[in-house]
Amino acid sequence: MIPYGRQSIDDSDIEAVVRVLRSDWLTTGPAVEQFERKVADYTGARHAVAFNSATSALHGACHATGLGPGDVVHTSPLTFIASANCARYVGARPALIDIDERTWNIDVSLVDENVSALVSVDYAGLPVDLAALAHRPRVVIQDASHALGAQTPDGPVGNCAHSDVTVFSFHPVKPVTTAEGGIATTNDDALADRMRRFRSHGIDRTARANAWEYDAIEVGYNYRLTDVQAALGASQLDRLDLFVSRRNEIAARYRDLLAALPVALPPAAPAGWVHGYHLFAIHVPHRDEVFARLRAAGIGVQVHYVPVHHHGVSVDIDVPSAGYPVVERVYSGLISLPIYPDLTEADQDTVVAALSRILTDLA
Ligand SMILES: *Cc1c(COP(=O)(O)O)cnc(C)c1O
Repeated sequence: MIPYGRQSIDDSDIEAVVRVLRSDWLTTGPAVEQFERKVADYTGARHAVAFNSATSALHGACHATGLGPGDVVHTSPLTFIASANCARYVGARPALIDIDERTWNIDVSLVDENVSALVSVDYAGLPVDLAALAHRPRVVIQDASHALGAQTPDGPVGNCAHSDVTVFSFHPVKPVTTAEGGIATTNDDALADRMRRFRSHGIDRTARANAWEYDAIEVGYNYRLTDVQAALGASQLDRLDLFVSRRNEIAARYRDLLAALPVALPPAAPAGWVHGYHLFAIHVPHRDEVFARLRAAGIGVQVHYVPVHHHGVSVDIDVPSAGYPVVERVYSGLISLPIYPDLTEADQDTVVAALSRILTDLA
């Protein structure tokens, strides 16, 4: 099976992990601090706070920015359910806005002034144009799980030029991996402190009279990343730019190879932007049949995503009677083709040949 995404692990990654296993620290210690510094330096943010997943980082971001009951949090319908659940975790209510045909990201012109927060999602690795927001809500959190290594004219995604917090995921299919893991970047010292406290039981670390004293001043969680994972992440980060350029090469080659087929290609990055190409999702006719036949041919395609409001958990979302027409149209034909740094040209040719044969059969 050629998967739709997978990690790229080399000997330097393995050696970095083994070094930590031979050291005194396994859980949150010096390797986590080094990894956080490295991500902060890469993105240009003041702080990076590591978590054991992007989901927990999103929870931490919603908590630290003060979201709670009574708050309405906009996000995209075309995302993983965690982008909406983070509002629910803190007692806030998720609300959706349709996507823009030209980007497959939320339509930034539809963000209204009555919502407390926006959790923007850089779908497939194409950054949301936050500089073009019609209204800036009180809180802006970027779910950039797809977009580490991507750039806008304002610089690297994660520098928080137009947001309070940016969150990245390190799941194996994401731009770099720690097996499971996530991180939140911010330029705000107080937000960084609050997220650090939240990820470790709400314990305030201010020095006290006795070395053993500590004070849990609020409810927190154990959302810590381990040193073992952080060592893998730091080692992976050295190859991030290589990974992103390889993904861009694969995407450009798909665009050439698919040009003659009756499919719609994904939105491209504007001039001056860098696309992360976490996904290469296209729009095909007869999607359900194409999906089944590609899987049967050994190609591990996937659909990203079943829209947020289609899930049973989303009974709390007020869907307008007209629905979200753009996302419904895009979703009806959506399919993610394999893309990852180690995908070979031969594998890519296999994918395109299979798709071409199937589309001819179904025409
Ligand atoms: C992967 C992903 C998440 C969740 O990341 P985890 O690290 O698996 O918790 C959240 N949002 C989006 C858009 C994702 O793609």
